[in-house]
Amino acid sequence: AATEEKKKEESGNFEIGLEDTSKGVVTRFPPEPSGYLHIGHAKAAVINDYFAHDKYKGTLILRFDDTNPTKEKEEFQDSIVEDLELLGIKPDKRTHTSDYFQELHDYCVQMIKEGTAYADDTAQEVMRQQRMEGIPSKERDASPDANLAHFKEMEKGSEEGKRWCIRAKISVDDPNKAMRDPVIYRCNPQPHHRTGSTWKIYPTYDFCCPIVDSIEGVTHALRTTEYKDRDAQYQWFLKALRLRNVYNWDFSRLNFIRTLLSKRKLTKFVDTGLVWGWDDPRMPTVRGVRRRGCTVEALREFILKQGPSKNIVNLDWTTFWATNKKYIDPIAGRYTAVDNKNSVTATVRGASAQPHSEQKELHLKNKELGTKKVVYSSSIVLDQADASSFAQDEEITLMNWGNAIVRSISRNDAGLVTGLELELNLAGDVKKTKKKVTWLSKDQALVPVELVDFDFLITKDKLDEDDNYEDFLTPQTEFRTEGLADENVVRLREGDIIQFDRKGYFRVDRAYSEGKPAVFFQIPTGKGGK
Ligand code: ATP
Ligand code: MG
Ligand code: MG
Repeated sequence: AATEEKKKEESGNFEIGLEDTSKGVVTRFPPEPSGYLHIGHAKAAVINDYFAHDKYKGTLILRFDDTNPTKEKEEFQDSIVEDLELLGIKPDKRTHTSDYFQELHDYCVQMIKEGTAYADDTAQEVMRQQRMEGIPSKERDASPDANLAHFKEMEKGSEEGKRWCIRAKISVDDPNKAMRDPVIYRCNPQPHHRTGSTWKIYPTYDFCCPIVDSIEGVTHALRTTEYKDRDAQYQWFLKALRLRNVYNWDFSRLNFIRTLLSKRKLTKFVDTGLVWGWDDPRMPTVRGVRRRGCTVEALREFILKQGPSKNIVNLDWTTFWATNKKYIDPIAGRYTAVDNKNSVTATVRGASAQPHSEQKELHLKNKELGTKKVVYSSSIVLDQADASSFAQDEEITLMNWGNAIVRSISRNDAGLVTGLELELNLAGDVKKTKKKVTWLSKDQALVPVELVDFDFLITKDKLDEDDNYEDFLTPQTEFRTEGLADENVVRLREGDIIQFDRKGYFRVDRAYSEGKPAVFFQIPTGKGGK
């Protein structure tokens, strides 16, 4: 069972493959360039990449689904390309849905001529109602010529044209509501970020997907399970237009507790200043989780381990960060920091009068990380939290040094330690002490640091459809502690991942520079749900 478990771990849970792969596999990742990638998108990208490249040695297309001129921006497109690179995903081709506006237009005309699509000017609300109740539109049986005339008007983007849309003529009352005459074209006179004002009509996602997939040679269209109902519609378009077959394959959406995975809402977080930007460590974006200290390997493993499960579950962040810990622990050099505002200076009797230093390994189990300089002297600082737990004559362990006995301890009225004298007892057994404490010699250039921890932005595990997220914002989500760290920390660079003994893992967000403290973000490890 253990080897079985190991095997599963290595290959992910993707033993279940795609159907009919004999003629090769082409998949596509189709983001809308209207925001930065979040980890839900990363799931879709990783799975498409996994099937196209790792499993079937086929082709992966990155297709910008840029059919909505109102929301899209070049900035987002560039960020998506970069984020995929960060994820180690190399698409073989980069395309745009807008590359096919002419073809899509022509297919629409073909459908109108063949009587499988019609123009409709039913008001949106009424149309929604009619679709719910299975009532045909008054325009449903209009002639192809009349429909074409309306379509021409839409193409002009005229006032009259703006009133109309084109709908596929599939069914009025199919139990599957996706089959109830979906809209395939809308009029929108706004300029498009790539095609400018060439077009005043834009195809809907439902219409583009099957057509562009087919034209581009996609063999398997992987979609999240909310599209399940739309698979029938997708297949209907392929048949109606006599296009090459494409398989649909569904996987579950990624959801996390206390997290919103919606570009629209994340955009609001950024625009309203709730966060510093798209790469804020509290954001569930690819950039955000990386800045928080998630490694690409961990993200990939986590996603592939979810496997082909179709259950939509609200995941806890615990496993996500626990997976990450496996990757960072072996490469995180060990350093020491104390809480500057709540520290105690102690005198160490028995330490040599002259400070001395030794080179110690940064990581006992990873020699490749090299060494650090540890300074020993009779004047050290400790965390107040540790010092105030000491009792007179208690034997404690100074980590990476040895045992010491508490010889004198003075406290103020609040119980805080104001003076402390320790006596080294290096012959003492470190296994026998209850307290192993971190300390720093004051005879070195201690480095000012800021240790920053974060909390979830949202207080509620799962927001309901009609919940307003503004009503569930965590009042404080950023916690800064001023600290002092050993002098080796000056060497660290932005992006380095380290451990401060007994404080946990951190990613360097800003390296130390003269006069400015180094900034470290705490990396969650899955404990305490964070
Ligand atoms: P959002 O609501 O956040 O904008 P979207 O689906 O509208 O999501 P797209 O840019 O269209 O965003 O998505 C690109 C791809 O990512 C699609 O294939 C989509 O199904 C997939 N995707 C989006 N969100 C998730 C998620 N939470 N889990 C898995 N896949 C997702
Ligand atoms: Mg979408
Ligand atoms: Mg969306």
